[in-house]
Amino acid sequence: MTRASNSQATTREQPRVVRLAAEDDFDGWRDAARRLASAKISPDAVVWQVGEDSADLFGTEQELPSAPSGELRVPRAFIELAQAAVLHRDPGRFSLLYRLLVHLGENSGLIEDHADPLVRRIEGLAKAVRRDMHKMRAFVRFRELDGTFVAWFEPEHHVVRANAGFFVRRFSTMRWSILTPEISLHWDGAALREGPGADRSQAPDGDVLEEVWKAYYASIFNPARLKVSAMLKEMPRRYWKNMPEAQLIAPLIAGAQAREATMTAQVVAPTERGITLDGLRKEADACRRCPLWKDATQCVFGEGPPDARIVVVGEQPGDEEDRAGHPFVGPAGQVLARAMEEAGLDRGRIYLTNAVKHFKFVLRGKRRIHQTPNAGEIDACRWWLDQEIGLLRPAATVMLGASAVRSVTGRTGAVGALRGKGVTLAHGIGVVSYHPSYILRQPDREAAREAEAALVADLKRAADEAK
Ligand code: SF4
Repeated sequence: MTRASNSQATTREQPRVVRLAAEDDFDGWRDAARRLASAKISPDAVVWQVGEDSADLFGTEQELPSAPSGELRVPRAFIELAQAAVLHRDPGRFSLLYRLLVHLGENSGLIEDHADPLVRRIEGLAKAVRRDMHKMRAFVRFRELDGTFVAWFEPEHHVVRANAGFFVRRFSTMRWSILTPEISLHWDGAALREGPGADRSQAPDGDVLEEVWKAYYASIFNPARLKVSAMLKEMPRRYWKNMPEAQLIAPLIAGAQAREATMTAQVVAPTERGITLDGLRKEADACRRCPLWKDATQCVFGEGPPDARIVVVGEQPGDEEDRAGHPFVGPAGQVLARAMEEAGLDRGRIYLTNAVKHFKFVLRGKRRIHQTPNAGEIDACRWWLDQEIGLLRPAATVMLGASAVRSVTGRTGAVGALRGKGVTLAHGIGVVSYHPSYILRQPDREAAREAEAALVADLKRAADEAK
């Protein structure tokens, strides 16, 4: 029996035109496909069209069959595959998906047969769409225009609407617009609106943050790890024109060999890259990458000598640090100072900083109660920590608490489980330890003493690495 033998074409000569509302109309396709499959309409008897496209010359517009009373059972994997493949630019995708749906009615296990030509073709469509969605998330670059952040992007497939939720979550506190040739998305901080497609000329070309971003990209560009083919695969040239840092790619590649030799010799001074810690500090004062700047008194940037061999990273400034503008000056800072002294470290030779540079809190009456920064805030602020560490190139980086671990390594996990395992970083070794405020929160003196002893031991380990 052939796969489609149970399906009967209604009128082979005059296929039925099924019209969908939009190129990414998965719900419309699913509803129509369900009705057609229940009525046993052959895939060959259906022409799928979108919007106001003129009808197929040989097709007729007909009412869809009525909806089946029961559920049409299909494997979950098919739904996920179809949701992605529907967004592909291939005009035949709706038809291919309907064909597969009909075949699944006869053999639901077909979805697992990755050698089947139809399954393989649709998997290829879905893969291309997922890749395009990822590219949009990675390569959209906002530029400020009168208080709104505007980005231009040209997707390969119909992924803009499907990606809207990602951008709303990621940039929930910004007013932004993403302009693309087919549709535009506009977020005003509370609601998302859709607009018509736009033209490249409607998006701004540059803003004040662009130079900062380019300087950052240049500082993290590591010629020793440069693989041009892999880089082009991950960052295809077609996206470069919308990315400020792309202007640097050609000269950075051209200079990579020379820079690699210099880096290998470890004689690159941070100032050669045109950035100093003081310069970074001034730039961070104006940072609006996450909402925490709004309620804080000021940005509390890292402090310490530019040739520090050890960097200590905490979570965020507390109430006292926020008022004073210096890191580790409150109660937790006193615990840290004591532990450093016991470990034989000279605080004046250490660079102290935080994963997040603005104080996060909630007001209870007149009191400002510390709030743990969330993953998005830590990741946004990582921009600054990366540059601090890139300039300092320390022998050891001590990560105090889970937020610091996430910021430095991108990893999550309980500090207790990560302690004692040296982490190899781009610059030196990473040492995980307890945050001093954790020590202050211990319920009894014995527990606090144990935690502080662990911090002292970890600081000693960092000191050994820095010798
Ligand atoms: S916390 Fe960090 S990322 Fe957020 S605004 Fe402050 S400096 Fe910028």
